[in-house]
Amino acid sequence: MGEVLVDVQGVHKSFQLGQTQVHALRGLDLQVQAGEFTAVVGASGSGKSTLLNLIGCLDEPDEGRIVLGGQDISHLDDAARCTLRNRKIGYIFQAFNLVPVLSVAENVELPLLLHDDLAPKDRADRVAQALADVQLTEFAPQFPDRLSGGQRQRVAIARALVTRPALVLADEPTANLDSETTGKLVDLMVDLNQKRGVTFLFSTHDEKLMSRVARVVRIRDGKVAEGAA
Ligand code: ADP
Ligand code: MG
Repeated sequence: MGEVLVDVQGVHKSFQLGQTQVHALRGLDLQVQAGEFTAVVGASGSGKSTLLNLIGCLDEPDEGRIVLGGQDISHLDDAARCTLRNRKIGYIFQAFNLVPVLSVAENVELPLLLHDDLAPKDRADRVAQALADVQLTEFAPQFPDRLSGGQRQRVAIARALVTRPALVLADEPTANLDSETTGKLVDLMVDLNQKRGVTFLFSTHDEKLMSRVARVVRIRDGKVAEGAA
């Protein structure tokens, strides 16, 4: 067994929705080893986004602990949280979340602007490498609205990888894509996982994707039903 990169221990998370309390995660346990490619599969409302948001430090658990690379990230202050998000984690969202007034290359460069230890030349090299990894080199000067959905999501993958994060979180990255594009995108992520050794944790409600992925964790009603460790 390799090194444990993500360790989710007995995590609970509730949301107040008007008068009702929604118990989104109910004592969830999950371990991810460095270098793994894992799919979190579950129906809509099962708690996938809540889980990824907690691991990605976008929110805090009510109970339990989340350890990332040996560091307890359950309750960090804003500064620590920002540094961690920018240095250790890459995000890919369902809606791509590209900045429309920036070119493809500028979108990919964006997270590197917080890395003031990198010389401009090194930044440019990183951007070029990330775009080559997702086969979009010739699209560098284009704006996102000129691109197809699959291409936009590849830009988002390049943006997630450009900081060389330990972990890439992708929350239903294929939900807005047709099935052929979806298959290609998952194959690309698997390839990058193998080639670059990046740990991927992605969520989907698409059962068809399971055959493409080495490890499937099934979540149901805020708990892992299958494949926790
Ligand atoms: P999934 O991503 O698997 O569809 P979510 O993690 O988004 O599931 O949601 C799990 C449950 O928590 C759902 O019942 C959802 O309505 C609820 N929930 C998630 N986020 C919020 C929120 N910010 N406010 C209220 N309820 C929420
Ligand atoms: Mg979701």
